[in-house]
Amino acid sequence: MSRIDLHSHTTASDGSLTPEELVRLAKRQGVSVLAVTDHDTVAGLPRAIAEGELLGVEIIPGIEISCSYGETELHILGYFIDPADPHWEPALTRYWASREDRNPLIVQRLNELGCELDYAEVKAAAGSATVGRPHIAQALLRKGYVKSISEAFDRYLADGGPAYVPRRLPPPAEAIGLIRQTGGIPVLAHPVYTSRIKEPFEQICETLKGFGLMGVESFYSSHNQQQTDRYRSISREHNLLVTGGSDFHGEAKPNLLVGTGYGNLKVPEDLLEPMRALAGKDNKSG
Ligand code: AMP
Ligand code: ZN
Ligand code: FE
Ligand code: FE
Repeated sequence: MSRIDLHSHTTASDGSLTPEELVRLAKRQGVSVLAVTDHDTVAGLPRAIAEGELLGVEIIPGIEISCSYGETELHILGYFIDPADPHWEPALTRYWASREDRNPLIVQRLNELGCELDYAEVKAAAGSATVGRPHIAQALLRKGYVKSISEAFDRYLADGGPAYVPRRLPPPAEAIGLIRQTGGIPVLAHPVYTSRIKEPFEQICETLKGFGLMGVESFYSSHNQQQTDRYRSISREHNLLVTGGSDFHGEAKPNLLVGTGYGNLKVPEDLLEPMRALAGKDNKSG
């Protein structure tokens, strides 16, 4: 049976599989169309696309950009982006720098909390990846300070946790604008996490749509049927595309598999056509 998955991570950011390994696993899982959406980087895309060509898996070039929204954070996915577009480099360099400012401060907090860890070790294990909290969680796991990645988040790293340090994030208008400028389709990721925002979801959609948002990730690994139905109907009411994906990360999110999420995810293939119809239609001039 063929399936599609429009949200996945590789070692270019905080996933544990290389782009080639991810595409091979997707192929074994029966995924025929896979969007690769690493955090704040397009570096994994050429390798994923090349492996996809080899194996007959269509790779949709994507990205996931972390943004601020008032006091909270939300993530914007970009689909059918042009990784070679010159607009990426300066923005992604800034996002990279804000992570490099923040990560050592998280490690410093952990040191104060009794976990002996060196940011150089975290960096060495991450290689050239965009370093995120999952890399720090993995270091805590390797050193035996926690027994699982989720324990690392629960005890230390989660938003507002004892080792949490906020980072400078771009406003959503910037991320959405950047994705549109590079030919892509901006979509709100995992809408269930916006429940932390004290504003009706419809209002968030309208605000983001005003910035150029084009879709909502209504199908998502941790959505139940009711949530999926709700986000899908709100998307339709607001004339936004309905999309879906697993948010596969490999070891950083155990039990979550590409294509099937926690087992029940089934992203309808017919979501693709309206996305394709809009892709690249935008000015690639700006
Ligand atoms: P960062 O980008 O450094 O702020 O780290 C955030 C990333 O950590 C998210 O995109 C998720 O991939 C991951 N993450 C957040 N919370 C958890 C959790 N409770 N368990 C596992 N991974 C998480
Ligand atoms: Zn991630
Ligand atoms: Fe995300
Ligand atoms: Fe993600």
